[in-house]
Amino acid sequence: MMISVGVTGGIGSGKTTVCKIFEQLGIPVYYADTEAKRLMNHNKDVKSKVKNLLGKESYHRNGRLNRKHVASIVFTNKKKLEQLNQIVHPAVRNDALRWTKEQKSKYSLQEAALLVENGSYKQLDYLIVVTAPVEMRIKRVVKRDNSNFDQVKHRMDNQLPEKDKKKVADFIIDNSGEVSLIHQIWKVHRILMERS
Ligand code: ATP
Repeated sequence: MMISVGVTGGIGSGKTTVCKIFEQLGIPVYYADTEAKRLMNHNKDVKSKVKNLLGKESYHRNGRLNRKHVASIVFTNKKKLEQLNQIVHPAVRNDALRWTKEQKSKYSLQEAALLVENGSYKQLDYLIVVTAPVEMRIKRVVKRDNSNFDQVKHRMDNQLPEKDKKKVADFIIDNSGEVSLIHQIWKVHRILMERS
């Protein structure tokens, strides 16, 4: 069986940036957020469950997710958010399994923000945690998303602190700019290639 490796880290830590470099080394990456969106828009089973939970208005007439409607409910209702996650997370997990089986490289990556929070890192062979100081992460995301400090901080408050993620990491990639990112990724890549 091919080795499956999770890539996680707090908002703005640089997960995607790190994964793009692995892709340059020929390693396939499953981006869980992107795939979750695709499943919510196109998977029949997921769509009907979402409609049952949040109402028919959860989808526009063209079949696309009505993000505003869904956000307006789950933003203020924690129970509904949990129930929505219980629909989407297993669907993403199954989809990722299917995808992993199709890959032909020695190992593959799965990028997701909440791998540690939801325990799904336990189903992977290794976990990479990408780190950077909080202030730097906030600055980077404010710039990338054109948002503001409070919005980013709010999203960050729903995530486990970096130190708790590092405790369960097999590899830590420091994306503070203090250490060469490419060099660290190359070292992890070499180890994973040897173990597979
Ligand atoms: P999110 O959790 O929001 O998806 P992420 O962990 O995937 O974020 P990225 O999108 O990779 O993080 O990085 C956040 C922003 O910081 C991006 O605009 C990215 O280009 C920038 N960035 C990432 N790493 C560095 C770096 N080493 N130097 C400068 N900018 C960086």
